Amino acid sequence: MEFEWSEGDAAYRRELRAFLNAGLPDDWAELSAHGPGSDAQAAFSRQFCGALAQRGWLTQSWPKAYGGADATPWRHAILSEEMWRVGEPRGSQYMNVNWIGPTIMKYGSEEQKKFHLPKISAGNALWCQGFSEPEAGSDLVSLRTAAARSGDDYVVNGSKIWTSYVAGAEYCFLLVRTDPNSKRHRGISVLLAPMDAPGITVREVPAVIGERYFHELFFDDARIPASCRLGPEGEGWGVVSYALAFERVGAMRYARAALTLDALAEAARERGRLDDPVIQEKLGAARTAVEASRLLSYRVIDLRAKGSEPTADTNIARVAGTLCENAVSDLALEIYGAEALAYGNFAESYWRLAMTAGVAVGTTEINLNLIASRWLDLPRE
Ligand SMILES: Cc1cc2nc3c(=O)[nH]c(=O)nc-3n(C[C@H](O)[C@H](O)[C@H](O)COP(=O)(O)OP(=O)(O)OC[C@H]3O[C@@H](n4cnc5c(N)ncnc54)[C@H](O)[C@@H]3O)c2cc1C
Repeated sequence: MEFEWSEGDAAYRRELRAFLNAGLPDDWAELSAHGPGSDAQAAFSRQFCGALAQRGWLTQSWPKAYGGADATPWRHAILSEEMWRVGEPRGSQYMNVNWIGPTIMKYGSEEQKKFHLPKISAGNALWCQGFSEPEAGSDLVSLRTAAARSGDDYVVNGSKIWTSYVAGAEYCFLLVRTDPNSKRHRGISVLLAPMDAPGITVREVPAVIGERYFHELFFDDARIPASCRLGPEGEGWGVVSYALAFERVGAMRYARAALTLDALAEAARERGRLDDPVIQEKLGAARTAVEASRLLSYRVIDLRAKGSEPTADTNIARVAGTLCENAVSDLALEIYGAEALAYGNFAESYWRLAMTAGVAVGTTEINLNLIASRWLDLPRE
């Protein structure tokens, strides 16, 4: 296997870094510590993604017909690494590019593609993801939010929880049950729901991980045009499975872990802790975990570049990503002690982010279950 980047890819990464060095505001560290859900970062994301789009970088790996440049998925991986490395200045728009756009490309009608994809590739569209419900998190197929057909609309009733990035979101990638008599995977549909539809109420759920991170969405007779349905009615589970495979390996979180690890090694040196065998062991373990996460993510990108359907490799890469973030945040606690928990310390903002890694986009336990059944072919019980 060839691990070196081509000269073109390496040059692209250099250009990106130069762009970030010149383009990120002086107070970026403070801005990014508020989290991608904050109003300030949501506003910044439009400006920043617009600039990326103008350079042709935001969706370069998409087909030309949809605002891309037919570049390989590796270019997109480089973009994602460089963005996560500095704290993801694309804000929530990383979701659009990673999985919302590709899922619309695969399942959308021509009208939906024409309407949504240009906005996404111009870097001027904010989305949120309405999957989880109070009684349907890991067991997502228990979802109950109902969408009943009424003329040209669906009338939606129910609620969602833990919805991130609602600040300024214009659309919600919303999972609903369109067949009230259906169970589990059947009878589920996806709606590309406009967030300004009457009957949608948003309530913030305060959280330590960042401002305006989590929300509840309430749907009270919200009328969503039937033309917003993505894919055939009742077959939304296939759509969501496709989307999740892109979502699990899209945010290259190991890139930030690697940068944090370098800073932690430097902090250990400054504090005279590099001779400490506990620190040495944790540094080695964290470096190994970061590299494992990177290479397992590359395996998924390689499969994508070859046009393969998503496999359990995405679950494996996701678990490796969580282990790597845990190893780095564990090291931060070891080096900084209680200081690592003080607001403003870079270890603290990393620790807060890492804390969520084993829960968001499916918990580690669920990913391990999926690896057991899909990869190891073990029985479910
Ligand atoms: C940072 C972050 C952002 C998020 N953003 C969004 C968002 O934008 N939109 C959205 O819809 N959701 C979002 N979520 C919600 C996330 O998808 C859910 O939290 C996750 O799926 C787990 O569901 P739950 O919280 O209901 O936990 P539960 O499903 O109640 O799980 C509780 C515990 O039980 C374990 N468990 C459950 N079932 C099993 C099983 N079968 N085998 C073994 N262990 C099991 C879990 O691993 C977990 O440890 C976000 C979560 C986080 C942390």
